[in-house]
Amino acid sequence: MSRKVSMVTLGCEKNLVDSEVMAGIMAEKGYQVTEDPQDADVIIVNTCAFIDAAKQESVDTVLRMAKLKALGKKLVVAGCMAQRYADQLAEEIPEIDGIVGTGEFTRIHELVERIKQGERPKLIGNPVYIYDEFTPRLKGVSASAYVKIAEGCDHRCTFCVIPQMRGGFRSRSIDSIVAEVCQLVAGGVREVNLIAQDSTQYGMDIYGARRLPDLLRALNDVEGLRWIRLHYAYPGYFTDELIAAFRDLDKVVKYVDIPLQHSEDHILRAMQRPGRQKHIRELIGKLREEISDVVIRSSFIVGFPGETEEDFNRLKDFVREMKFDHVGVFTYSPEDTSPSVHFRDQVEDDIKDRRASDLMEVAREVAEERLARFVGATIPVLIEGRDEDSAGYIGRTPFDAKEIDGIVYVTGNDLTIGSILPVSISHSVEFDLVGEVV
Ligand code: SF4
Repeated sequence: MSRKVSMVTLGCEKNLVDSEVMAGIMAEKGYQVTEDPQDADVIIVNTCAFIDAAKQESVDTVLRMAKLKALGKKLVVAGCMAQRYADQLAEEIPEIDGIVGTGEFTRIHELVERIKQGERPKLIGNPVYIYDEFTPRLKGVSASAYVKIAEGCDHRCTFCVIPQMRGGFRSRSIDSIVAEVCQLVAGGVREVNLIAQDSTQYGMDIYGARRLPDLLRALNDVEGLRWIRLHYAYPGYFTDELIAAFRDLDKVVKYVDIPLQHSEDHILRAMQRPGRQKHIRELIGKLREEISDVVIRSSFIVGFPGETEEDFNRLKDFVREMKFDHVGVFTYSPEDTSPSVHFRDQVEDDIKDRRASDLMEVAREVAEERLARFVGATIPVLIEGRDEDSAGYIGRTPFDAKEIDGIVYVTGNDLTIGSILPVSISHSVEFDLVGEVV
């Protein structure tokens, strides 16, 4: 068998980082990494199993890749779905040659070698691993990179199965993260996106204290780095010190991503989320007061067991009133190993779907209103590529996160991809902006 491997990555950015690590390990062992599964001898599908829709997408992708086996390829299933459903996958999809979970993915090379020896291995251990600055990682060329500051979660939100797939909370050291970011910057990265299941918990396990502000301060000193973006800041531990770090550190973009999940206290309590509406309102008030022009992203779950029409209407009012710049909406998915699957008053699917589209509509109106304040302003834009439909470019402001928020259509001549340039915004189109380099 020749030595070409292709990664097919589904799910979140944490999975993307894991795929980049697996690709790095395989490259170090002499494999060529190709983007095209048709061109590979080994296809690794890095799956997601967060909610029903993600599981379905993972299974569909595995089955689609299984069709390529007729060409003699080997098929590996990795990631969260592998961790959670290894036995079922092995039994129900005979085309799978090997399975590796989130706890053992750094043994990917050993797994592939064993497949070549004729075995059908399954490597599923406890997820306790987190990569460091010495781990090989093969990242695509981009001025923006994800950096995992921690992995796993010690919270027990009743709807969530992530801790079962990703293990307990574990942080990397400040030194390790800074060293990796310096390497990324040397390779042309200008923006780092710090990710974890709960980033505000950063440091608790290794330092005995929450040290996210210290980490942000250390990263702010990295020369050549322009933007630091923090994701998944759990509302329960958003301290005044963290607010001050956002306010005072020039490279930390004024973009706060707080997954709130709901506005109503009895739902938050049933979800086992920290804080209640009063606390959330105070926190958002403080963020708006302390950090001028702050952009706030949040996500909400609709149709959680016990959510009445009245609760839902209050959630809509809350989203309107809080004026979130970006909102993600999920319909509640009753996962078989989550506590909330056994809760009474489960909400019918059609009601959940209707509530999701209603809330999205509210969020869209608010976002459009918020976006209008950028029209006429000149803002820095990271130029990320050419716009295939025009002669222009596509970029992103510090107020928009990669892949999930809006983009900027930029007019300009001979712009360098990866540069950050001032762009005068002429108008907005839905969630996106249009402007010209000045
Ligand atoms: S904070 Fe809650 S929702 Fe997020 S990963 Fe942990 S348990 Fe899941």
